[in-house]
Amino acid sequence: MTKDIVVLGAGMVGVCTALALRQRGHSVVLVDRQAPGKETSYGNAGIIQREAVQPYAFPREWQAILRVALRQGNDVHYHPGALAHLSPTLVRYWRESAPGRYASIVTAYSALIRHCLSEHERLITLAGAQDLVRKSGWLQGYRTAQAFDRAASEATAIARGHELDCQVLDQAGVAATEPAISGKLAGAVHWRDPWTIADPGELVTRYAALFEREGGEFRRGDATTLSQTGAGWTVTTEDGPLSAANVVIALGPWASNLIQTLGYRFPLFVKRGYHRHYAAEPMPRLPLLDVERGVMLAPMQRGLRLTTGAEFALRDAPPTPVQLGRAEGYARELVNLGAPVEAQPWLGARPCVADMKPIVGRAPRHQGLWFHFGHGHQGFTLGPVTARLLAELINGEQPYVDPRPYDPIRFAAM
Ligand SMILES: Cc1cc2nc3c(=O)[nH]c(=O)nc-3n(C[C@H](O)[C@H](O)[C@H](O)COP(=O)(O)OP(=O)(O)OC[C@H]3O[C@@H](n4cnc5c(N)ncnc54)[C@H](O)[C@@H]3O)c2cc1C
Repeated sequence: MTKDIVVLGAGMVGVCTALALRQRGHSVVLVDRQAPGKETSYGNAGIIQREAVQPYAFPREWQAILRVALRQGNDVHYHPGALAHLSPTLVRYWRESAPGRYASIVTAYSALIRHCLSEHERLITLAGAQDLVRKSGWLQGYRTAQAFDRAASEATAIARGHELDCQVLDQAGVAATEPAISGKLAGAVHWRDPWTIADPGELVTRYAALFEREGGEFRRGDATTLSQTGAGWTVTTEDGPLSAANVVIALGPWASNLIQTLGYRFPLFVKRGYHRHYAAEPMPRLPLLDVERGVMLAPMQRGLRLTTGAEFALRDAPPTPVQLGRAEGYARELVNLGAPVEAQPWLGARPCVADMKPIVGRAPRHQGLWFHFGHGHQGFTLGPVTARLLAELINGEQPYVDPRPYDPIRFAAM
């Protein structure tokens, strides 16, 4: 079978890419080894993060670095055995987080984030997925007055600078906004623009169904079988070989394997994260991030989903859910958490790039090869945003966002 474009990977990023290309009239096949939306795009906190104009930087103050090194907080955990492998990339991440460089990264990142609601809204409407969406924001909660005061003034400044709606809530304000929180918080920042999704994997499934309704095709296959042939690319699927002039690699945390075999060495790494659902009663209305304890409590169809912060480890190392174990205890201090819904926690990996920006664009050294991965902490938010950008580039249209900050050429020497 020969098509115009094959998209490898059916997470939020790949599904939105396939859809954006199909909507521009291309014949597109989406390939994954399993059904769409079963990996990272399933397991996240489900927030379309309009407020996330600043990507997570590597800490720069020595006290913060020491705290992480001594594993004193619950927001970050690491496998000491993985550090030798991860160090070169983490050093680069640290360098990119220096104030001057970071300021330009924020400019580039926020230029994408600002489109997340409008791009999702179009797809949510077409996909008939309004039932999954709640448009009431989320809470960034603080236990101590000192941390709350600092965060409140930072959030107010960010909101002013990026035209965001945030409300600073004291203890009584938190209780009034979210009665399910019974434990004491000093206060919270209520980010009111973001949308939350009751089942993130289901939203990807609905976008994939829309892609098929609009004439796109989905095939099960193994992306690692990709090879360059005379006029293009071939990949093996369960229905036989599939050829196309163009191929998009949208494999999230698995992109690194394939691009390495093609000779690219980008500064990629993962921040692993865990989740588990609980039968909380009453169920909170809004997601709450307990910032000082490093746990997000996100109400979902399956229960209250606790998600953890970053675990620096090799992607395929065995699970070590120590953060989730602690998170459960912390969550019980705030809400009536109830029993866990599943026997085992879920483990996933945020696909990260050392300069905190996704990699979107033409592969520097291969004809017809396009890269689309590395969305880090906000791939669920950014999937449709960078998908439109990539589709415009492939289609030769005037891009709606300046594509240069995300161009893979920035790592061409690697
Ligand atoms: C705990 C946690 C909480 C998060 N919360 C949020 C949030 O609230 N908001 C937000 O915006 N983001 C959040 N994120 C980040 C977000 O989930 C990711 O950035 C995003 O899901 C990445 O999407 P993706 O499509 O690139 O990757 P994935 O969703 O992982 O998709 C990659 C696809 O590639 C396929 N694949 C892999 N190897 C092969 C192969 N050899 N052959 C064929 N197919 C293959 C997989 O099956 C998978 O379907 C969170 C992440 C975590 C871990």
